[in-house]
Amino acid sequence: MEEIKTRVCIIGSGPAAHTAAIYAARAELKPILFEGWMANDIAPGGQLTTTTDVENFPGFPEGIMGGELMDRCRSQSLRFGTQVFTETVNKVDFSSTPFKITTDSKTVVADTVVVATGAVAKRLHFSGSDTFWNRGISACAVCDGAAPIFRNKPLAVIGGGDSAMEEANFLTKYGSKVYIIHRRDTFRASKIMQNRALTNPKIEVLWNSVTEEAYGERSLTGLKVRNMVTDEVSDLKVSGLFFAIGHEPATKFLDGQLELDSDGYVLTKPGTTQTSVRGVFAAGDVQDKKYRQAITAAGTGSFSCFVIFVHLQF
Ligand code: FAD
Ligand code: NDP
Repeated sequence: MEEIKTRVCIIGSGPAAHTAAIYAARAELKPILFEGWMANDIAPGGQLTTTTDVENFPGFPEGIMGGELMDRCRSQSLRFGTQVFTETVNKVDFSSTPFKITTDSKTVVADTVVVATGAVAKRLHFSGSDTFWNRGISACAVCDGAAPIFRNKPLAVIGGGDSAMEEANFLTKYGSKVYIIHRRDTFRASKIMQNRALTNPKIEVLWNSVTEEAYGERSLTGLKVRNMVTDEVSDLKVSGLFFAIGHEPATKFLDGQLELDSDGYVLTKPGTTQTSVRGVFAAGDVQDKKYRQAITAAGTGSFSCFVIFVHLQF
C-alpha cells in the first residue's frame, strides 16, 4: 500500500472540493484530491454531471452545461498543482493527527482534511420499484431520459422540488406527456421552476398523490397511484418513472468518526466549516441541507481553506 504525506487532503469532486483545491493549491499547499470513481454511482464531478444547463452560476450569462462546468473546475484545480486521484475513499482515521485517508491502493497522511463528498439521489421503495429499477425506473432524467424506451411515451416524475420541475420539463422533450406525482398540494420548488412546469402543456400534476405499485412485463408499463384526499387508486399508464425526491449525504465511509445530524449530514459549528474533529472541515452538500447549490458549495469550499490557513498557521 502506497503512503503519501500532504498538508491538505480533499475528499470529493463537486464545486466544494474543487474550490477548496484551487484555494489550497494557489497557496502552494500542494493539496491531494480524491475525486472518487463512480462513488455513490456519480461520476467524478459530482451532481452537476447529472444535469444539463446550469443557469444560476455567475459568469455564464448564457448558462453552461453541468458537466462542462465541472471539467473546467477540475482543470483549474490541476492548473495550480492539485494532485487528483480518481479513487474512492473507503476509510478514514480521524482519531489522531496526522489523519489517515485510505483508498484501495493508497493511504494519505494529512495534517488537515476537507470532506466534500456531497449527496446522492434518494429512491422510493414500493411494490415493483426494485423489479423495474433501470427497466423504466430511474433517479436521473437527464442521464436516462433520452433512452428509446421513453420516446413518445407517457412518463412520470415523483417530487415537488426544483429537481422534479427540472426533470419533468426536460422529459417533455422525449415523452408524449409527463405527470408530476406529488404528495402535497403545493410545490417547494422555486417560483421560476414551478412556473416553467405548470405552464408546460405536456405536464400534468397529480396533487396529493402517492405511488403504491409499479407494474409491467420486461419493462415498466404503469403505476398504481393513490389520491390521499379521496383515497381513490388510479391506474397510470407510463413507460418511465423518475424519482426526484431529494438526496442523501455521502457520509457512510466516515464510519461515525465525525458528528452527524439525524439525517446523516456532517454537523459543522454554526457559520463555519469546522466539524467535531479539529483540523477536519466539511464543505458543500455533505453539510448543507438548506441551500444545496453549486455556488454555496463553492463558497464553503473556499471558506474551508481560510480556516485551514489559520489552522496550519500559514
Ligand atoms: P457533489 O456535487 O455532491 O459531488 C460530490 C462528489 O464527490 C460525488 O458525487 C462523488 O463523485 C465524490 N465522492 C463522494 N464520495 C466519495 C468518496 N468516498 N471518495 C471520493 N470521492 C467521493 N445547483 C445549482 O446551483 N444550479 C443548478 O442548476 C443545479 N442543478 C442541479 C440539477 C440536478 C439534477 C441536481 C441533482 C442538483 C443540481 N444542483 C444545482 C445542486 C448542485 O449540483 C449541488 O448543490 C452541488 O453539486 C453540490 O456540490 P458538492 O461540492 O457538495 O458535491
Ligand atoms: P428537495 O429536497 O428540494 O425536494 C424533494 C421533493 O421530494 C419534495 O417536494 C418532497 O416533498 C418530495 N419527497 C421527499 N421524500 C418523498 C417521499 N418519500 N415520497 C414522495 N415525495 C417525497 O430536493 P431537490 O432534489 O428537488 O433539490 C435539492 C437542491 O438542489 C435544492 O436546493 C434545489 O434548489 C437544488 N436544485 C436546483 C436546481 C436549479 O436551480 N435549477 C435544479 C435542481 C435542484 P415535500 O415537498 O412534501 O417535502
